[in-house]
Amino acid sequence: MATLELNGITKAYGKKIAIQNFSARFENGIYGLLGPNGAGKSTLINIIAGVLKSDSGSIFLNGNDIRRFKNSYYDHIGFMPQHPSFYANFTAMEIMKYMAALNNVKDNKRICELLSFVNLISEKDRIVGGFSGGMKQRLAIASALINNPEVLILDEPTAGLDPKERVRFRNIISQISNDRIIIFATHIASDVELIADKIILIDSGELVDIGTAMEICEGLKGKVWQLIAENNRELSEYKKALNITSVINNGRYEIKCICDNPPSPDAIQVAAGLDDVFLYRFSDKG
Ligand code: ADP
Repeated sequence: MATLELNGITKAYGKKIAIQNFSARFENGIYGLLGPNGAGKSTLINIIAGVLKSDSGSIFLNGNDIRRFKNSYYDHIGFMPQHPSFYANFTAMEIMKYMAALNNVKDNKRICELLSFVNLISEKDRIVGGFSGGMKQRLAIASALINNPEVLILDEPTAGLDPKERVRFRNIISQISNDRIIIFATHIASDVELIADKIILIDSGELVDIGTAMEICEGLKGKVWQLIAENNRELSEYKKALNITSVINNGRYEIKCICDNPPSPDAIQVAAGLDDVFLYRFSDKG
């Protein structure tokens, strides 16, 4: 069982404090690092990945301060940056061989296993420049796994993927979470709601909340309501009066909103989802 501990991590860019006194403990499983744009996710992820230095605080991997690992720290880490880039004229196989060489991995069988795992084995001799966004993300996962890392870090990995590719990507991540720590940074609640063992809410560089999706949603219990607006006029009146988190148009408007008391006599109480929590907590953050 791998453990990763962040103790009081702080990082500023000039006067801008991006991460403030951030502490958390990770064990094997998937952690959804969820926060609005500018919350500090990439900064924190880059610090954990060892590509950015914090100003203060410490990180312990399996009980050892990572400063003592020096370069061998990277043997334990797999990192998928926000915009993975590949040599466009390399084939998938050549990319994997290149990553294997960089990581001192000599096992060619592992390359084929990983390409099969991400469903790219039949495309192994194709030039990566012609890959779709989803195929590139899957190749990025395969290459981040080349050293069988104890900690896998993903920075907004589903950016630019269509809904089908998102589901496929989430399934891949679920399948590899048993024997490692996976930190999945995103601003899209549905990316992590179903697969994360724990959600970490981050805002303005600080940890806002940590818990299972159910625990995080518990705070809104009894406060999420569904009601119907029959036409545009009713909808715009509700929009003025209520804290609306979603509107579904299916001939009439199905509204979800958050308030302490029933917003109308016909309103029905519904379960809170992570999307509701996100919109409620970060609604002023666009
Ligand atoms: P997120 O990944 O959640 O969008 P970031 O970690 O990218 O957040 O950014 C956190 C804050 O730090 C933001 O206010 C951002 O503008 C600022 N920031 C990020 N990188 C830099 C940088 N290189 N120089 C100055 N400010 C930065």
